[in-house]
Order: sequence, then structure tokens, then C-alpha cells
Amino acid sequence: MSLRSRGLQAAIQSHSRSPMNVIFHTLASVATAAVLSTQLKEKKPINSITGLTILVIGFTTGILLHGLLDWIPHQYPLPSVLDVVVSLILFSIIFLRAHKWILFACFQGAIFPDLVDLGPAILNRQMQLHLPTAKIFPWHWKEYSGSIYDGSRHWLSIFNHLVVAGMSGCLILKFRQRLLRNLF
Ligand SMILES: [Zn+2]
Repeated sequence: MSLRSRGLQAAIQSHSRSPMNVIFHTLASVATAAVLSTQLKEKKPINSITGLTILVIGFTTGILLHGLLDWIPHQYPLPSVLDVVVSLILFSIIFLRAHKWILFACFQGAIFPDLVDLGPAILNRQMQLHLPTAKIFPWHWKEYSGSIYDGSRHWLSIFNHLVVAGMSGCLILKFRQRLLRNLF
């Protein structure tokens, strides 16, 4: 086996072990929910036109931010199991006290592209199923994905992840009181 094909095989194995960075998508979705929660006034129910519009915007923004995060160059700093577990713990802690519908809509949008494009392949692997697989979202295509599997551009990946975490953290902190009003 040539060096090149060995590298390719390592890349494929690496991809199958850690296909997602759920933690960064989760952080972005909480930040989106924090910003959007400022748009829901005290007496407006979530099933009002305003509330439903906010949910649609949250879901759509989640999908678009997912695309942006997948497009920028990135490695996979966490093992996939730890990535998912930490993300779910973080989401659950915030979910208990937050605008549940807004956070839920943003989080659903943030994971929707991976559920659609990667979910069937993961289920096939884990449960020996034969579900059809296809990548619908362009940022999961080789030409538009920022995934780095060969260990290169390590510092660029760290920088990008720090920017995402830093910006999300600042927005969550700034709007935390609106997000955590626990109205629903
Ligand atoms: Zn993705």
C-alpha cells in the first residue's frame, strides 16, 4: 500500500470515528437561542405569530450556522463519544432553565444536517442496517467541507474553534438573563 493510500485510509478511519463536532454546534445553537430569546416579549406566547417566527428563524439559523462551522477548516479535538456526551450534558443543563422551545428549535436546526446526511450511515454501522445514504447538504461534500483529517493546519483549527467558542460564550453570557427566564 502506498503512502498516499495509507493516508487516505487513515483519513477515512478517522472520519468514521469522529464525523462530528457536536459541541461547537451545540454552543452555537445555545448562543442563537440566547440572542433570539431577547425578541420574545414578556406576554407573547410561543404559539403566537411572533413566537412561531422566532422558532422558524432559530431552526433556519441553526442549519446555516452548521454549514458555516462545517465549512471553516477544522479538526476533531474530541473523541466522538465524549463529544456527544458533553454536548448532551451541556444542552440538558441549559434546557432545564431556558426558553425550551427556542433552544429546542435552534438545537434541532444545528444538528439537522448531520442527522440527515450522517445519521443513516451511523445507524448502518452501529446496527448493521442498510438504510440509503446520501449527502444533501453541500458543506458535507468533499469540495466544500473544512474537515481536516491529515493532521495539518492544527493551529488554524484551534484558532477557528476558539473563535466559535469565544463568540458563542460571549453571546450566551450577554443574553443569559433572557435565555434563562424559564417561562415555558
Ligand atoms: Zn455537519
